[in-house]
Amino acid sequence: MHPVSFNRCDAMISPELMEQVVVNILRTAVTSLPSDIMSVLEKAESVETSDIAKSQLRAILQNVKCAEEASIPMCQDTGTPLFFVSGRCDGDIEEAIRKGVERATREIPLRPNIVHPLSRKNSGNNLGVGMPQVHFLPGPEGFVEITVMPKGAGSENMSALRMLSPSEGLKSVKSFVLDVVVNAGGRPCPPTIVGVGIGGSADIAMSLAKRALLRPLDVMNPNAELAGLEEELLDAVNLTGIGPMGLGGRTTCLGVKVDLAYCHTASLPVAVNLQCWAARRASARMFRDGRVTYSKEGFLLD
Ligand code: SF4
Repeated sequence: MHPVSFNRCDAMISPELMEQVVVNILRTAVTSLPSDIMSVLEKAESVETSDIAKSQLRAILQNVKCAEEASIPMCQDTGTPLFFVSGRCDGDIEEAIRKGVERATREIPLRPNIVHPLSRKNSGNNLGVGMPQVHFLPGPEGFVEITVMPKGAGSENMSALRMLSPSEGLKSVKSFVLDVVVNAGGRPCPPTIVGVGIGGSADIAMSLAKRALLRPLDVMNPNAELAGLEEELLDAVNLTGIGPMGLGGRTTCLGVKVDLAYCHTASLPVAVNLQCWAARRASARMFRDGRVTYSKEGFLLD
């Protein structure tokens, strides 16, 4: 394998280092939660009035604490390995990520989740055609940033896409999001984060919904109209009473994150991507001088 190089700054980073970075961020992601998720979970536990809801949230918080202390995964489902890479690089970053995922599966360990979609044969190492999935994003100058989101199947399976008629408008967008949450009930392991992608095309809308999940809960949507929509949907979802793990309560959802793209005049795609309470993410930045900085909060929106 060739060393990975940053074509804007001529810096080099060895494939071995890149592989190690992937192992490190995967370990951080599956054994700890970002502070924004923890603080919303803690707040929810303190304001819940239902004993069952309170006990579920307490169990989740205790579980995360134990996982972090023992450096073991917080959930048996260590997810689908999804990566987001920003910054330009020439080398075979995908190969380095594949090697990192294979190593992380053995060393952490991660549950081998990845199978052939039809034969259901398990590759045993979380690798396969199209896996791990690497999304390349427009990037900054001077460094490459890599973020991992290990995505649990329970919540991913509740994702939904609707190609609305443009005449249906915002009212139908809101109804669709609420329908998805209500139909999902306790299956996505609530309290969830609800990612919503509006516009683009079918694939763009789902991609927007997935990426919206990376925005920390305490980071407001920069678009005031979308920020208002997020608050309105959050209140509406929490009025459903589904509650933590679907056992009832006020905390069905920790946050709603909406993103949009302009779309064809004849289309109004809406996608919902649900994230469970185990809203795992971690990032690293690799600089031109070889330094690496890590964050369990995620860097993507700096
Ligand atoms: S949906 Fe999330 S919390 Fe539920 S089993 Fe899967 S990873 Fe774990």
